[in-house]
Amino acid sequence: MSLTVRTRFLTAIIAFALSAPFAAAQNVELPDMGSSAGTVLSPDEEARYGARMLYELRRVDMVLEDALIDDYVHALGYRLVALSERPEQPFTFFVVRSDEINAFAAPGGFIGLNVGLMHTAESESEVAAVLAHEVAHVTQHHLVRAYESMQKATLPIALAMLGAIIASRNSSGNGAEAAVISGMGLMQQQAINFTRHNEYEADRIGIFTLAKAGFDPEAMAGFFARMGRATRSNNSVEVPEFLRSHPVTASRITEAKNRVEAIRRNPPTVTESAANETRFRMMRERAHVLTSKEPAKLVDTYRGELRHADKNRTTSLRYGLALSLLRSAQATAAMNEFDRLLADTPNDIALLLPRAEAQRLAGDSTGALERLHVLAEVAPDHRAVQLAYADALNATGDKANGQRAMAVLRPILAKYGADPTTQGTFARACELAGEDARALEAHAEVALYTGRPYDAMEQLKRLLERPGVDYYQRARVEARIDELKPYMAELERQRVRKEDQDT
Ligand SMILES: [Zn+2]
Repeated sequence: MSLTVRTRFLTAIIAFALSAPFAAAQNVELPDMGSSAGTVLSPDEEARYGARMLYELRRVDMVLEDALIDDYVHALGYRLVALSERPEQPFTFFVVRSDEINAFAAPGGFIGLNVGLMHTAESESEVAAVLAHEVAHVTQHHLVRAYESMQKATLPIALAMLGAIIASRNSSGNGAEAAVISGMGLMQQQAINFTRHNEYEADRIGIFTLAKAGFDPEAMAGFFARMGRATRSNNSVEVPEFLRSHPVTASRITEAKNRVEAIRRNPPTVTESAANETRFRMMRERAHVLTSKEPAKLVDTYRGELRHADKNRTTSLRYGLALSLLRSAQATAAMNEFDRLLADTPNDIALLLPRAEAQRLAGDSTGALERLHVLAEVAPDHRAVQLAYADALNATGDKANGQRAMAVLRPILAKYGADPTTQGTFARACELAGEDARALEAHAEVALYTGRPYDAMEQLKRLLERPGVDYYQRARVEARIDELKPYMAELERQRVRKEDQDT
């Protein structure tokens, strides 16, 4: 399709995509896509469509896949969900590889948190404040109104496009992408003006959830104010995305403060602890280092900061230093830094796992494997531990170790089957163990969960034509194909529809 047509289509889609996930669509004039009113999605459809946005983001490598950070954000999010107005609503929290200060909610309780927002936050409560706001958009059904005004089929396309848009904003940007970006800014500006009421409600509900969950309710006002100041004091800095869709006004900050006063009169217990704050800071640095394009430069930054840091910041800064040393192939130096940290907290998994990796990269793979084996024994359900152990087993290139890695991952796979990292690690273990047919099955799952459903289907069908597929695997693959058929049919309908829109 031509650039203009493409841009026009994107702009139309963007207008909707933004009004829904970033805020809510109260009175938003949605672009006319030939919609018929009154088609509200079922919870199942919401979950499917939200999941597709996540897969789409994975396809363009925008999701930070790290079991430790995943677990952390999941626990943080669920502390809020448990005390929200709809604790039974399923949520999926994930971290987006983007420097923009932003977070967003999509249908089905999918909440994306940008690395940029984590990096800017000074306390766990600040991140929790933003998550509580997004959780409230979901629990208050702010997204539902958007569905009412459009045909079901257009929503998943819009969400899939959102994935592409978030990605394009992050790349250096050619002409087409630039056009998309400016179109988006414009549409987003409109979304702001139309959704004040829902924003207000998300603030109001969010701050109570925040307080009930034991976070500092002042963090919401504090974070908003600090973002606002950072924006005003430096004109060269772009307005953080979260502020564009969530403009900070004096009244918004005052409202947040007043609510804190109200909460104060009948205060819930604040369960913030030094240990929680240290954990937050460690995960913040971890996300920063894992998404950095120049980890070697971070080594100098962290060393410099450590020279002047007060005592409560040294742990997280040293953790950042150790991880950036590891990422820039200075394994022995990394190991030394991890050991200094382990002197204080010898059982911390977030230290032990990268420490073992450093040990392996420094040439002692037997020692690393032994350490991971011990950890794997004591934490059989811990995904990050089992993944690290399986990775180390795979790295030996040994057939027996491949078989062990398969055994280690099977119970994890039962719980995290939709996690492409677990499936991918399992696939490599299968290959090593000589179980090629089983490896193909896992590869198909990876394709499905990273936004390549047609590849997934193709791989499963090809698998059935292979000789040597046993009865059980054949039955399993056939069942999986049957399971995916309605999904594929839906994609096909939407693809036809999208092509209609394009021309
Ligand atoms: Zn909002």
